Order: sequence, then C-alpha cells, then structure tokens
Amino acid sequence: GAEALREQLLGRIRDVPDYPQPGVVFKDITPLLADPDAFNALVDALAVLCARHGATKVAGLEARGFILAAPAAARAHLGFVPVRKAGKLPGATLSQRYELEYGSAEIEVQQDALAPGDRVLVIDDVLATGGTAEASLELIRRTGAEVAGVAVLLELGFLKGRERLSTALAGAPLDAL
Ligand code: AMP
Repeated sequence: GAEALREQLLGRIRDVPDYPQPGVVFKDITPLLADPDAFNALVDALAVLCARHGATKVAGLEARGFILAAPAAARAHLGFVPVRKAGKLPGATLSQRYELEYGSAEIEVQQDALAPGDRVLVIDDVLATGGTAEASLELIRRTGAEVAGVAVLLELGFLKGRERLSTALAGAPLDAL
C-alpha cells in the first residue's frame, strides 16, 4: 500500500548535512536509484499518477527530475519532455525566469515540445521552495498545454512549496510520494 511504499522510499533517501552549502540538508536519492526494487516501485507509482491524472505528456525538471520522469513516461507509454536550464536546448525555445533566495534562474522548454491539447504531468525529485516547479507550470501553460499535475518523490513541508505553488497549480493535484 501507500504507507509501505512511503517507508520503502524514505528508507533509501540519505540526508547530507551542509551540502551544497552550510545550513542545507541535501536529500540524496542515489541510494534509492541504486536499489532496483525501490527504484522500480517509484517508477511504477509515478506511472500510476500519469494515468490517474490523465496526462498525455510527462515533463522532467533538470537534472534529477529527468532520472524519474523519463522511465515513468516510458512505463505509462507517454512522451517525455525535458525542462532544462537556459542554453541547453537546441532550436526555438520558450524561457521562464524565476527568483531564487539570492539572484535568479531561467528554465526552458522547446517550443514544439508541447501544444494545446496536451496535459502535462511535471515530475521532480524534491519540492523545496516550489520556485522551480512554479516556473515550470508557467512555462508549460505558455505553450498552450494544460497542467495535469505535479508529482515529486519528496516534499520539504517546512519550506512551504505547496503554498507557493497553489496559484500556479490552479486546482491541479500535487502528489508527494
Ligand atoms: P525549489 O525551486 O526551491 O523547490 O528547489 C527545487 C529544486 O532544487 C529541485 O529540482 C531539487 O532537486 C533541488 N533541491 C532543493 N532543495 C533540495 C534539497 N534539500 N535536497 C535535494 N535537492 C534539493
């Protein structure tokens, strides 16, 4: 069940204090990725969410989102769309700038990757402040596509990303496995 999955996944996420900077506890998912049972269970659960939310495309957020979104898309028999940091995708792109604690960042999607009629499930490993996911939802809507939802492995509740995302979600579901 959901509780057993939760235990299996949480048991394979490693806390790394003071990485990449002092005061941050980094959630390292590499032990989970290295465990074939846990990784497979995670991909299965994400593919179930794709079906439940009626997604027609799966977007992964660079970089660890790619590792989860691509196999989930393939398992759900849906196309995968990379949302990348600015300057990495060839051809015409749409870009979205967003504010970080210090400075700003920019993400991009290829212009022809999504179109009206698509319903996109956005996948990432960790929801922290929600800034990256929020920008990705704005980007996806600008292509004319609809947002089917956001799915993450882990939500850091104390950072209130869910609250920050609520306007951009506009009623679409946010699932944290
Ligand atoms: P945010 O935009 O603040 O929600 O940050 C989300 C992005 O940063 C995700 O793509 C995560 O992979 C990464 N991230 C933020 N905080 C952490 C953390 N404590 N551990 C691991 N990854 C994190």
